[in-house]
Amino acid sequence: MWLNSIIRIILINSLLAITIGFSMPAFAAKNVKNVRVWPSPDSTRVVLDLTQSIEYSYFMLSNPERLVLDIKNTSINAELSNLAQSSDILKNIRSSTKNKSDSRLVFDLTSKIEPIIFALKPTAPYGNRLVIDLVDTEAKVAENQKKMESDRDIIIAIDAGHGGEDPGSIGGKGNYEKRITLAISKKLEALINKQPGLTAVMTRTGDYYISVHGRTEKARNANADLLISIHADAYHTPHPSGAGVWTLSPRRANSEIGKWLEKKEKHSELLGGAGDAIKNTTTEKYLVRTLLDMSMDHSMSQGYLVAKEILGELKDITKLHKRSPQSASFGVLKSPDIPSILVETGFISNPKEEKLLINNWFQNKMANSIFTAVNSYFKRNPPDGSYFAKFKDVKHKVKRGESLSLVAQNYNVTVSKIKEANNLRSNNIKIGQVLSIPQS
Ligand SMILES: [Zn+2]
Repeated sequence: MWLNSIIRIILINSLLAITIGFSMPAFAAKNVKNVRVWPSPDSTRVVLDLTQSIEYSYFMLSNPERLVLDIKNTSINAELSNLAQSSDILKNIRSSTKNKSDSRLVFDLTSKIEPIIFALKPTAPYGNRLVIDLVDTEAKVAENQKKMESDRDIIIAIDAGHGGEDPGSIGGKGNYEKRITLAISKKLEALINKQPGLTAVMTRTGDYYISVHGRTEKARNANADLLISIHADAYHTPHPSGAGVWTLSPRRANSEIGKWLEKKEKHSELLGGAGDAIKNTTTEKYLVRTLLDMSMDHSMSQGYLVAKEILGELKDITKLHKRSPQSASFGVLKSPDIPSILVETGFISNPKEEKLLINNWFQNKMANSIFTAVNSYFKRNPPDGSYFAKFKDVKHKVKRGESLSLVAQNYNVTVSKIKEANNLRSNNIKIGQVLSIPQS
């Protein structure tokens, strides 16, 4: 599936190599042959493509803020101008020759940052790399300050799959999964934010790479009540089709296609940033394991119920690949404390569905179905202290001769409040119907 993109990336890199300017120490044995910049709202990733692994050191300077990276026995053969254009954190990258064989890169920054620098071994299509993550510390603090309160909104984290240098699967017509997932996610975000009592938080808002760990971390920092990861499925033959919903599982995936998907996700992770594998040490795995045992039952059963609800909506707008929620253990679903689900919106490897997936009308329907399911699930099962919980307490069973306006009058609330609390599309109510009465 990625072969196309791999070839494209290699092509772009070699074109760059021809047009670059040179600032080269005379006796350097190694090369920085290309520099890539991936900005996101609160961090920017800079990737140096290297001919061999390198020795490096770095330090920070203030007034103005700079990161200085010294690289031993290496020359810079990459174009650096205009690279930082779209980053909020990075103003400019400059290079200078430190001495006969060493190079120095200076990163001019807009604010104080925390650099995370690590080397990556070759993973096709990439060779040796040095990754420099520039993390805006102030943005992180602001996010953490978002505290729980009474009448709080229920937080839905929306995770648009893939992004940046990880295109996800690619359809026969050349459409990238990462673009489809972002388009649907943005539509879902708008619907959620329009609903009083719900707030959406996006794990990514543009075309940049974010690690699996970074995605769940974002959801956790926002105190998310639910994490929905949006993807498009792919298979090595064009026939398979239909949408599906996956939920967290501590065990191995329960079907053949599940196992295959697991492998695919792992591959994408390597392609995008094997840094996760380095940072997630055994101690952290142990901690995760302990947490898993504590809170998995709760989040799993909640995730399963939301997944079922979403499938109930999706069956009206598209073919289902599997009628019941499937369980898997993808990275993004491994967050033990947050109920997490993964929606496969269709098969991008199926020509008919690839066409649908890029269609604005279909994307709207997809977002709408997911929204309707999530909204009604939380209206029926509101977390304590949430705005939705206020609507839950008082119930009224409709008696003969009662109209919606009469019920509203008796409880001193508006008709529209009752309709909103019960997801009613019209003013028609039936005898025996149980209505939730919102407390005004
Ligand atoms: Zn995917």
